[in-house]
Amino acid sequence: MDYLPLFFDLKTKPCLLVGGGTVALRKAELLCRAGARVRVVAPKLRESLTEMVQVHQGEALQQAYSADFLEGMTLVVAATDDPALNQQVHRDARERGIPVNVVDQPALCDFIFPAIVDRSPLMVAVSSGGNAPVLARLVRARLEALLPQSYAQLGRLMGAFRERVKQRFSRIESRRNYWERVLYGPVAEQLAAGNQAQAEQWMEALLDSSEEQARGEVYLVGAGPGDPDLLTFKALRLMQQADVVLYDRLVSPRVMELCRRDAERIYVGKERDNHAVPQEGINQLLVDLARQGKKVLRLKGGDPFIFGRGGEELEMLAEQQIPFQVVPGITAATACACYAGIPLTHRGYAQSVKFVTGQLKNRSSELNWPELVQDNQTIVFYMGLHRIGYLASQLIAHGKNPTTPIALVQAGSTPQQKVVTGTLETIEQLLKDNPVKPPSLIIVGEVVKLHQKLAWYQGSEDAEHPVLSLRE
Ligand code: SAH
Repeated sequence: MDYLPLFFDLKTKPCLLVGGGTVALRKAELLCRAGARVRVVAPKLRESLTEMVQVHQGEALQQAYSADFLEGMTLVVAATDDPALNQQVHRDARERGIPVNVVDQPALCDFIFPAIVDRSPLMVAVSSGGNAPVLARLVRARLEALLPQSYAQLGRLMGAFRERVKQRFSRIESRRNYWERVLYGPVAEQLAAGNQAQAEQWMEALLDSSEEQARGEVYLVGAGPGDPDLLTFKALRLMQQADVVLYDRLVSPRVMELCRRDAERIYVGKERDNHAVPQEGINQLLVDLARQGKKVLRLKGGDPFIFGRGGEELEMLAEQQIPFQVVPGITAATACACYAGIPLTHRGYAQSVKFVTGQLKNRSSELNWPELVQDNQTIVFYMGLHRIGYLASQLIAHGKNPTTPIALVQAGSTPQQKVVTGTLETIEQLLKDNPVKPPSLIIVGEVVKLHQKLAWYQGSEDAEHPVLSLRE
């Protein structure tokens, strides 16, 4: 270990900062955030630097450095562009036994500044020991993405309850158990959802409840169109803390791989007309599992509220007063359009876009064709592949120009992506020679023309092979 990581309490402590430029300003910001009384010294001081230090009860001295300024200092930072001066500050500080940092010169440092992820009171510090600052910054960026902003409130709230938890539970195991229920249960998630008051109520309720009474909850999460990179951070976090996962055909195996390893996995269908578990059964299963105190992840392809029946599943949970939250996902329409280079509302061609289901609840019920054939709009059909001929001919029959461009996007955003374009009158024939498989999305409108120019993503696997686990 080259350095011992420590967290230094600098509140109201005097610190000397030598230098008056941008680098000094950055260090002054950090020291002030930590509550230090900064004395900054330089013949020329940026105005913003002077202001910052003074606002935080420090002093800004516009003059040349001398060793006298070191008197009584807790820390020293040299941030000048004069190597000889930096050396001298280093020497002077060493002689007086004051820890010193010379910016960007590890050899002249008693301590170094790590890259930080600040969720105060939670603080993560990353250092490469001066070897590879860019690597440290990369790690920091990854951690930034992993740690929700709400951990700051969570940390504060946990601090506020600490004493009471000690009073309430005398055994150390019981206390740990309490905190785990806070962290892995609805409290943390309520905070992430912005419900501070609700989170506090849960913490109170947990204090009153007996230890065994675990609270289950349900996360209804959009898994996106297939490419795991298109998951949200929140989706990933919940996937990694769920006890049990209910998923269906549209959730790609690469996405499933990211669920917690030891989570139980339950496949609930559904191919068209062939549901492994009927919808009522899924609703009931969600309720039963949550009642057992489990954190239940309901993963749905795309977005759970777009042709996903997510609403129906939630209604039952709401009736049974089981806590839940919903995480949006990238829906097939936006994913397929982006990955096929078809801007759904390109200004020259379309002022609106409609998402329409090609599969109707009642087979005799009909779509509003006069509305769908209007100009200057893009129509996206979900679940329409098996009725493509019918959809195209109905559009023509209701007045749409037969030469209107149409695209089919198979398995958008996955390695099996394939795009077939044509016109309303040619598409059925084109598909006979060049079939696409489920799941496929249909895009109708002038914007499809842009595919020629903007297509950028080629699926990397043989698109002719069955789309293994993505089905309509
Ligand atoms: N909730 C999902 C849609 C479920 S309906 C979402 O928001 O995307 C199922 C239909 O979505 C399929 O019949 C198909 O038309 C479309 N679909 C889903 N994923 C797709 C993908 N990766 N590529 C093409 N179409 C897809």
